[in-house]
Amino acid sequence: MARFGVEPNRELGQNFLIDDNILEVIGRTASLMPTDVVLEIGGGLGVLSTYLASRVAYLHVIESDAKLQPLLVDALEAHANAALIHADVMDVDLAALEPEPGKVVANLPYGVAVPALLRTIEELPSVTSWCVMLQREVADRLAAAPGSKTYGVPSVLAQLACEVRFERAISRNVFRPAPNVDSALVVLRRTGQAPPDRVRRLVRAAFAHRRKTLARSVELADAATDRPIERPIERQALRSALVQMGHPDDERAERLAPQEFAELAERIPE
Ligand code: SAM
Repeated sequence: MARFGVEPNRELGQNFLIDDNILEVIGRTASLMPTDVVLEIGGGLGVLSTYLASRVAYLHVIESDAKLQPLLVDALEAHANAALIHADVMDVDLAALEPEPGKVVANLPYGVAVPALLRTIEELPSVTSWCVMLQREVADRLAAAPGSKTYGVPSVLAQLACEVRFERAISRNVFRPAPNVDSALVVLRRTGQAPPDRVRRLVRAAFAHRRKTLARSVELADAATDRPIERPIERQALRSALVQMGHPDDERAERLAPQEFAELAERIPE
């Protein structure tokens, strides 16, 4: 960074990996194969990118910070199988990536870790496994079971399409600068398609008001949305559907297993 006159930008979650042992841990955990096509989100200085590029068939690297561009180009110069996409991950047309990625391996930028991860689940059906580093607290939320305090929208949306495994905690000392929070390595394995839009909307609305019942939360969320709703979900229909599923009609969202949200969406009229 000194050579290129660049300072780490904390707002972009620039905590760079400096520990080769962690690279090996990531490599083993991701079960990298020479035939893999991998997507890395947040290339940074290219430490993980170069490690990946030397071990897989093809690597897509997305990095939004223009200041890091020359460093990344320099780091990846010797790797003809790596393609650098200079853009915000939330703006990239992931479905257009060619060749299609089969794995996501990344030290995710903290600010967009959850939305970026969920986008890859939804928009990249070709991806069957993820090995990602993220904030410990986010890792706990992704892997949370129904009934726990950390169980919420990320847990349900990720677990509806994937098996989520908390692999291990990661020390702050493997990054420079050291972040203020702990990190963790999480593995996801695809078990099915991402839930359709209707289910995603129901899940978000169900958890929008955590102290209310599920049906009331959905009603309030529908009323508060600034997008015109084609057909608001009826509170009474939700209450009846919950009862049919063996729940009390005043059930709370955190008591429903991920699959039950899909079932609930099926049971309410379109
Ligand atoms: N892969 C590198 C490593 O392990 O050392 C860097 C990881 S660092 C935690 C996250 C990287 O994501 C930073 O380089 C940051 O600039 C980049 N980033 C932040 N927000 C981004 C976004 N919305 N889209 C793409 N990259 C982003």
